[in-house]
Amino acid sequence: MAQPMLTKSFPSVNLSHKPTPLERLDNLSDDYQTNIWIKRDDCTGLAFGGNKSRQLEYYIGHAKSLGADTLLTTGAIQSNHVRMTVAAARKTNMDVEVQLEHRVDRDQVEYHESGNPFLVKLMGAKIHYYPVGEDEDGADQAMIDRAEVLKREGKKPYVIPMSSASTPYGALGYIEAAEEILAQLESINIAPVRFFVPSGSASTHAGLLLGLRASGYALPVDGICVRRDAQSQQQRVLTKVHSVEALLGFDVGIVSDDVICDDRFLAPGYGLLNAPATAAIKLLARREGIFLDPTYSGKTFAALIDCLQSSSYGMDDHIVFLHTGGSPSLFGYPELVSD
Ligand SMILES: *Cc1c(COP(=O)(O)O)cnc(C)c1O
Repeated sequence: MAQPMLTKSFPSVNLSHKPTPLERLDNLSDDYQTNIWIKRDDCTGLAFGGNKSRQLEYYIGHAKSLGADTLLTTGAIQSNHVRMTVAAARKTNMDVEVQLEHRVDRDQVEYHESGNPFLVKLMGAKIHYYPVGEDEDGADQAMIDRAEVLKREGKKPYVIPMSSASTPYGALGYIEAAEEILAQLESINIAPVRFFVPSGSASTHAGLLLGLRASGYALPVDGICVRRDAQSQQQRVLTKVHSVEALLGFDVGIVSDDVICDDRFLAPGYGLLNAPATAAIKLLARREGIFLDPTYSGKTFAALIDCLQSSSYGMDDHIVFLHTGGSPSLFGYPELVSD
């Protein structure tokens, strides 16, 4: 695989198995009489895999270039990002403290104890709790305050913030992924018509879109909203695109019409299942033996299924789904198998 071109001047560390496979879902492709491809970023290798390992390669590269010895970050109780940050810290021999936010109203003991929080405890991270749900800036600030305390103790902390105001080094990982995907599409000689990705903090969506457009590739990227309505999410993706452009020092000229955000699969909200996501999770498990997750990939695959049902793609068309991981959080949703 060629070295990443656009991001090569940025420091990074190696955390992921790359390239991840790009596979055809043969059974589902048969069922829907078209070609459905899955980019297996759930198989990045680090601590059950997922999109955060590509993002963390650049965050930790930046942290190490500043001499940091301790990582701090924040997320929901079942955050994959928190789990993978702890794993990345362990692999790169850094200390790590995480903050778990009360973002999702779920009382089940499994949600609070199983899956990601279990793994975070297994890896021995110091855990702080943040009692508020939707308060991104407040959650970041609490970590920044904690970093100040650590500095006074002689540590060199590095905060990985989540708000869209911060520099999204993580998006560089998805610019690199776009180059990887384009090389794979070229080698199997297909030109997809649609590309489905979850759109959360938007580092993945923004990075991919930018990476594709920077290579002159016009493929529509369907960003599926998992936390905010389509209008706010579109603004957020554009903000991230512009800050990554500033980081790279060039302007790809992405306009708002090119930022597709679909929030029809978001309700009842972040981290909460709905009927289409539940059906998508069961479908992929039962037809392909692949695990999605309730918060991100399940809702994104639900959007893809909806698209197949409402459009007339055929055997000459190719649709790609980016599987961003998240399967450990399945263990926090026992109701998936209770009926
Ligand atoms: C974080 C996450 C996403 C969303 O990625 P962003 O870059 O935050 O938009 C999607 N899927 C999974 C499994 C995640 O953990």
